[in-house]
Amino acid sequence: MRKRSVHDAVLRAVEDAREELVAFTQALIRIPTVNPPGENYDACAQLLGDALAGDGFAIEYLTAVGRQEHSASFPRVNVVARRPGRHTNPALHLNGHIDVVPVGAGWTRDPFGGTVERGRVYGRGASDMKSGIAAARFASLAIARAGIELAGTLELSGTVDEETGGWAGAAFLAETGLLTRPRVDYVIIPEPFGVDRICVGHRGVYWFELTTRGRTAHGSMPFLGVNAIDHMGAVLHRVRTELSPALRLRRTAMPVVPDGARSATINVNSVEGGQVGFATQSPCVADRCTAVFDRRFLLEESVEEVRQELVALIAETWKDIPDLDCSLTDRLLVLPVRTPDGSPAISAAGGAIRTVLGRDATLVASPGTYDHKHVTGIGGIVDCVAYGPGRLELSHQPDEWCDIEELVKATQVLALTILSLIGPTELRLTP
Ligand SMILES: [Zn+2]
Repeated sequence: MRKRSVHDAVLRAVEDAREELVAFTQALIRIPTVNPPGENYDACAQLLGDALAGDGFAIEYLTAVGRQEHSASFPRVNVVARRPGRHTNPALHLNGHIDVVPVGAGWTRDPFGGTVERGRVYGRGASDMKSGIAAARFASLAIARAGIELAGTLELSGTVDEETGGWAGAAFLAETGLLTRPRVDYVIIPEPFGVDRICVGHRGVYWFELTTRGRTAHGSMPFLGVNAIDHMGAVLHRVRTELSPALRLRRTAMPVVPDGARSATINVNSVEGGQVGFATQSPCVADRCTAVFDRRFLLEESVEEVRQELVALIAETWKDIPDLDCSLTDRLLVLPVRTPDGSPAISAAGGAIRTVLGRDATLVASPGTYDHKHVTGIGGIVDCVAYGPGRLELSHQPDEWCDIEELVKATQVLALTILSLIGPTELRLTP
């Protein structure tokens, strides 16, 4: 078979499946897999598993029993589908998260209706990322329908909890050896980065809390005590006037979007203070204050530097306030990750975008983290990119939608990417 005619047959098979593709996206949206707390994962995993079994995949359900997120009322059920080609390797794994964030206010449509209006599918998860899961399924189905036997193994998975860290989902699969090298060579995560953008990683995350401690006294005689909230105020002032501006000037070479996120950032997520044991008003001097911070750091920064900078800031504040009593506790650490330049996953997706859309792909990096961290950090698979339909800026928003034309195009791109990575050698797009 000629390469060109095979590509055409696959692209046509996707186009012919347009209605099924939309219907499957709708079916996925109609299962409210809201996380937290993680509702209906079993039903959604089953729907995906049944569909992929019908497509000729061997299905395995992996429940993250033993992980703290798992419970009888909210079971953490993941599904993995596998179809070997002529050889076991190379193996390509398409991983999508089945959970969606809570609905929130402002919807004018049923968040779980999956309604189609003027060429768009609406609903929670329409962008992030049930359309991506549907695209992964129909990309592989189109290849099968075009009668092409793959050289390598193709796997698809639907995993849980990405929105809350992915520990019972992608991380669980990586830990159990399923989403791990050398079993898997390439991973594509169809997160909603847009039809012509390939995401090559994300910044790091360091959540920490600072606690200041004072000494309580009667609120009418505050001079007899030490106010922990005042002391936290002094720390916050330095964060806002010194640390934040310094971070803004620190830029990464990674193509993080939007542009503001190309710098290191810090956000105060919450502040809570008062008298120990009283959540609200008490007629006393506050003897405790805790603030939680979200520091996003760059590939070019080390965790030690990030921590040391905070210790130095506290030390500076301490010079002004000698009785400052402040401690720092780690909450969460996620290292930055970047797909290496020249990765076959990047060139395959780039070639497919050029073929389908007639233009060059844009490489981007994500402002926030996603399951790429587990694929590389735990699974050791470096050739991982995110590419999928939907748009980042619509994710987690009311009236979230996915453009159907873009859904079809992204499915075609995924299909050619699969062919390029694990198709018969003569069909690959890139040398
Ligand atoms: Zn997502």
